[in-house]
Amino acid sequence: MPHVGTWRTSSAALAIPNFIDGRWTAASASESLPVLDPATGELLGHVPLSTHEDAAAAVQAAARAFPGWSAIPAVERIDVLFRFRALLEEQAGDLAKLLTREHGKTTAESVGEIRRGIESVTHACAIPTLMMGDTLENIATGVDCETVRQPLGVFAAVTPYNFPVMIPLWFWPFAVATGNTIVLKPSERDPLTHQRIVDLVMQAGLPPGVLNVVHGDQTVVQALLEHPDVKGISFVGSSAVARAIYSAAGAVGKRVQALGGAKNHMIVLPDADYDATAKAVVASVYGATGQRCLAGSIVVGVGDAYEPVRQRILDGASSLRVGYGLEEGVDMGPVISRPHRDRVAGYIAKGAEEGATLVLDGRRSKVPKYPAGHWIGATVLENVRPEMAVGREEIFGPVAGLTRAASLEEAIELVHRNPYGNAVSLFTTSGAAAREFRLRAQISMIGVNIGVVAPMAFFPFGGSRGSFFGDLKAQGRDAISFYTDQRVVISRWPTSEK
Ligand code: NAD
Repeated sequence: MPHVGTWRTSSAALAIPNFIDGRWTAASASESLPVLDPATGELLGHVPLSTHEDAAAAVQAAARAFPGWSAIPAVERIDVLFRFRALLEEQAGDLAKLLTREHGKTTAESVGEIRRGIESVTHACAIPTLMMGDTLENIATGVDCETVRQPLGVFAAVTPYNFPVMIPLWFWPFAVATGNTIVLKPSERDPLTHQRIVDLVMQAGLPPGVLNVVHGDQTVVQALLEHPDVKGISFVGSSAVARAIYSAAGAVGKRVQALGGAKNHMIVLPDADYDATAKAVVASVYGATGQRCLAGSIVVGVGDAYEPVRQRILDGASSLRVGYGLEEGVDMGPVISRPHRDRVAGYIAKGAEEGATLVLDGRRSKVPKYPAGHWIGATVLENVRPEMAVGREEIFGPVAGLTRAASLEEAIELVHRNPYGNAVSLFTTSGAAAREFRLRAQISMIGVNIGVVAPMAFFPFGGSRGSFFGDLKAQGRDAISFYTDQRVVISRWPTSEK
């Protein structure tokens, strides 16, 4: 199978083009940002800071494509997605390598991310069934009522750096399968793998203008928010930006789903299986070097659970090997950038200043073969309290904060003191405790003996409280509701006996 990517060969000096109306198009931007391999420092590309005009051109292309695309029967629209899915499977290995180079995550993590993305496409392939409406005959004598779902027009999606393949695939396959067209603004930090993905979907036969990609920063996002032809926006990123996008989109009457940041707690009861719990906690806190909205952050040991689980977490965290994600035997890659590495290191220092006990310090971690990498190793802080910065704020790095609670009730209170509400986990062998927990915890993604509460594509993904702004979440049936208008048709037909 020849390499289908054309964006790189057609562009000079690693300039990353936009994708508008089926063509790779140089942005009109005068500024760009470098995309660097976070392990080696190698320059991989220059991402343009596109302008209002670039964003407007993409929206216009999407608006022009909408009437034709939405008129194609759903069963034919998904033929494109079936072919796209097969190409993704075929190219998964190469996509994973590129993903590791631009993001830093390990090869196994990249493969896992691509598999999750494929899952979304699989779900979107079921659109003919998922888009069906309801009917009730004879709601009054001779009167029938039915609902139909119709696409709305042009959508926008704005996505973060930590899952640059999977998160765009949470959105645009559903938007286009339901008959809409879309403009994606990927993260400016690692936009390359998705460029290849665009090549694959065009090879699968997606018509020009149905999916458009505009690179850049908040200027592009602002332009998309302001554009009257954009009907709705799907956003994932930090909570401050998610909240601002939610307000701005709401103020101009656009649909919006805005997924924000997290501070996830993991509660361990004394009746838990400590070995399995510590394994799940270590995978949750340190997987993807802590750069996940589902990463465990605070471990709450209830009563006698604290000491045994503390020791096991410390043992697990100490054994993790930091290194270049493309090499064998690496458990944790670098974090995305030097400023982010310094931010995480700053939190560790602040934690110690505020009275937490630093029992494992990842700031000492080095990978001599790659001196330019943004390395930070597994870190454990004890005696973390909810009012400390490390107890309250999202760190987005490989840092576990350990704390104690006297009871499940006290542990749940501690969870609710935090403004975020993305995910929470309980480790126990008691069904009664698990039941109590799922009834009382006001958090939308709940794990029972599961460390990373990642709903599969067939279920809704999104948090609550300060982690989510909107009502319809990503993926699952919510995606179909978000990208369609549900219309009600009530009919009475004259009969010959009238
Ligand atoms: P970010 O908020 O910095 O950026 C996200 C996107 O918003 C990017 O495309 C960026 O260009 C754009 N953006 C940044 N500032 C903006 C502004 N002022 N106005 C408009 N657009 C702006 O987030 P990030 O650092 O790329 O990603 C990490 C964050 O995303 C973490 O907080 C993480 O928890 C969150 N996240 C949440 C979920 C979830 O499901 N809730 C999933 C993944 C990541």
